[in-house]
Amino acid sequence: MADYDVIILGGGPGGYLAAERLGHRKLKVLLVEQESLGGTCLNVGCIPTKSLLNSAKLYAHAQHSERFGVTATGVAYDWTQVQAWKADVVGKLVAGVGASEKRAGVEVAYAHGSLVAPGVVEVAGETKTADHVIVATGSVPVLPPIPGAADNPLVVDSTGLLAVESVPQRLVVIGGGVIGVEFASLFAAFGSQVEVIEMLPEIVPFMDDDLAARLRKALTGVTFRLGCRVTGIEGATVVYTDAKGTERRAEADLVLMAVGRRPLVQGWGAEEAGLEVGPRGVAVDDTMRTNLPNVWAVGDVTGRSLLAHAAYRMGEIAAAHIIDPVAARRNGQRLRTDTIPWAVYSMPEAAGVGLTEARAKERGHDVITATVPLAVSGRFVAENGVRGPGAVKLIADRGTRAVLGVHMLGSYAPETIWGAATVLETELTIDDLRQVVFPHPTVSEGIREAAWAITD
Ligand code: FAD
Repeated sequence: MADYDVIILGGGPGGYLAAERLGHRKLKVLLVEQESLGGTCLNVGCIPTKSLLNSAKLYAHAQHSERFGVTATGVAYDWTQVQAWKADVVGKLVAGVGASEKRAGVEVAYAHGSLVAPGVVEVAGETKTADHVIVATGSVPVLPPIPGAADNPLVVDSTGLLAVESVPQRLVVIGGGVIGVEFASLFAAFGSQVEVIEMLPEIVPFMDDDLAARLRKALTGVTFRLGCRVTGIEGATVVYTDAKGTERRAEADLVLMAVGRRPLVQGWGAEEAGLEVGPRGVAVDDTMRTNLPNVWAVGDVTGRSLLAHAAYRMGEIAAAHIIDPVAARRNGQRLRTDTIPWAVYSMPEAAGVGLTEARAKERGHDVITATVPLAVSGRFVAENGVRGPGAVKLIADRGTRAVLGVHMLGSYAPETIWGAATVLETELTIDDLRQVVFPHPTVSEGIREAAWAITD
């Protein structure tokens, strides 16, 4: 008999949620984590960035509240306290994960784990066996081979930037994806002069181009250089070629390398155990099964989606199939990447789910769209004025009238987008969506207005 029902490698969102789901069903689970429970998300990702962004937002609000009839004098920030708040939030949430695992009866081993073969894992040099193994080792930042980038103390990744002891006067961000944009917005709010250098023609690639352009223009205090290729870094000066092929230099005090993350597929026995690793990460089917019997992979390591809530969902799917494969199949427990929402917690915020207009056309849809300003929402106007940056774009198929994508720019977008994700997940049409009653006044009403604004 095996030592455990399930051994899980990695205690990030994918691993710890799977462990809880399995533990609550009385399976004997060992969760192996080599650093800190909560993984990238809790320790150096989602949560610390949102804690710092919250302080930045409060600071910005306090400075710009006169038009709402509120004047604050002597507004200042204390970076040490900003960091202390972040550390406190992270500490509490990591402890919370530990407590949840305990409640679920999950055994946690703080050690490096390696997959030896299906059902066999080495944990801190000891061999353990299990009926199932879930791999949830996450991802690491990509460091592109740019001359001058490696071993340069003035070039940091997101983890390095989260820990800086003071706000840099000038920050250059290489990469205009979600992580780059959030940090740009955060440090601009604290007074850094921020330049973002992005190779693509627009920021946040999975956001519909129209709205991404509006987001870029609304990010005050940030200069964007689009279509530019970085060719070298000298100290904290970034050398790049602009869209016209001219060489330019961006002077900074610190450089953030935020060009993306890659699945962590080395150092834990994937190759030796014969696990299939594809170009995106550990290869899985839509029930999170790998090529090896009873070996599953979830979260960033699969490369299917590099978001914490996607990792949660993948963890749940694997757990459901381990607990009761017949019920899991009957209940349609499988990964649908097209309906995973995303969010950017910058100032302003943005979020979306489903296809962009361009992607929908590429997939052969005869597309109909509507874009409405968030000024259609009374609450949005009360809080931002009619010219506040905010819009909703809805993308649908002309023939079936199925909603294919919803993209939102403006306050509360990350809190609102799950409603649109439900629309996509349940395959509702524009006409179904029009019948849904939204609370008033809310910013979410923008989604309903967009459904009514479609005239075709
Ligand atoms: P991870 O969270 O990476 O966890 C993997 C864990 O496995 C780690 O704790 C690691 O120590 C452990 N591990 C690895 N190898 C071994 C081994 N051999 N033995 C034992 N343990 C091992 N996503 C969002 O959805 N929203 C956000 O707002 C957001 N913000 C982000 C901000 C930043 C700056 C970054 C970097 C990421 C952000 N993400 C965000 C992405 C999110 O953090 C990841 O998608 C999520 O953490 C993936 O979860 P995971 O369980 O797959 O892997």
